Amino acid sequence: MHFAVCIKQVPDTTDVRIDPKTNTLMREGVASIINPFDVYAIEESIRLKEKYGGTVTVLTMGPPQAEAALREALAMGADNAVLISDRAFAGSDTWATSYTLAMALRKLEDVTLVLCGKQASDGDTAQVGPGIATHLDWPQITYVRKIENVESDKITAERLLENGYEVVESELPCLLTVVKEINEPRLPSLKGKMRAKKAEIAAWNAAAIEAEPAKLGLDGSPTKVVKIFTPEPRSGGQMLEGDPEDVCRELVAALKDVVLGCV
Ligand SMILES: Cc1cc2nc3c(=O)[nH]c(=O)nc-3n(C[C@H](O)[C@H](O)[C@H](O)COP(=O)(O)OP(=O)(O)OC[C@H]3O[C@@H](n4cnc5c(N)ncnc54)[C@H](O)[C@@H]3O)c2cc1C
Repeated sequence: MHFAVCIKQVPDTTDVRIDPKTNTLMREGVASIINPFDVYAIEESIRLKEKYGGTVTVLTMGPPQAEAALREALAMGADNAVLISDRAFAGSDTWATSYTLAMALRKLEDVTLVLCGKQASDGDTAQVGPGIATHLDWPQITYVRKIENVESDKITAERLLENGYEVVESELPCLLTVVKEINEPRLPSLKGKMRAKKAEIAAWNAAAIEAEPAKLGLDGSPTKVVKIFTPEPRSGGQMLEGDPEDVCRELVAALKDVVLGCV
């Protein structure tokens, strides 16, 4: 079986800042890590390989420095790594990103299962996994907390819900997005780190994945960012005290002022 894992390199911070002039993420001076949810996807793919046999390929779409994320995944135990990188990908929204990753997965040809994290800690949309499945026209199981069984033509998995879980069966090939409840990721071994340091990483550009230029980058992105801004911090609010009936009257009057002030 061939397990493919899509991983994203993200800033090692939850304090994501936006450049007000370019409307893009400000990455200067912030260390990069593998998106935390993707580490669970890597771990799960390695466990599947250990149980069922096969190979694990990790892919990332990003700038050349995203290679560091791929080497980390190799150190954990992935077999192959692909960096999908091209200036033509700049400005991609989640639709164009999903298309690009789907084209790279097509090039791999024999993939049984694609694993993604639930969402990225910077973009946070949780759209790329489902987007890849849509572009490939494959079934998908999202929010997977346990893989029960993989057979030659089908997979059974538990999907996390707000108040429990459901068991879903799907034909293969299929795409999964995983949640952190699925496993406890291993730390890379020294041997793994040595191997990863020397490993050759495939580099694919737009031509290599046979992508249609019009579907890439800013031109291929239906999302148009008009403005991004950090909301002003809220003021402290107002405490109403006294007789409950008076407080209610005062509150209704204050709410009316706010609502009427908005129309
Ligand atoms: C109009 C627009 C312009 C943008 N321009 C830029 C830009 O110029 N530069 C820029 O850096 N970002 C840009 N972005 C952000 C970029 O689109 C998203 O970072 C990207 O599509 C991933 O979305 P997300 O972070 O919400 O990932 P999610 O959908 O939350 O990620 C879910 C999972 O998908 C997989 N995944 C996501 N991204 C990747 C990836 N790149 N490689 C491999 N696997 C992945 C991972 O498994 C991840 O856990 C732009 C977004 C918009 C809307």
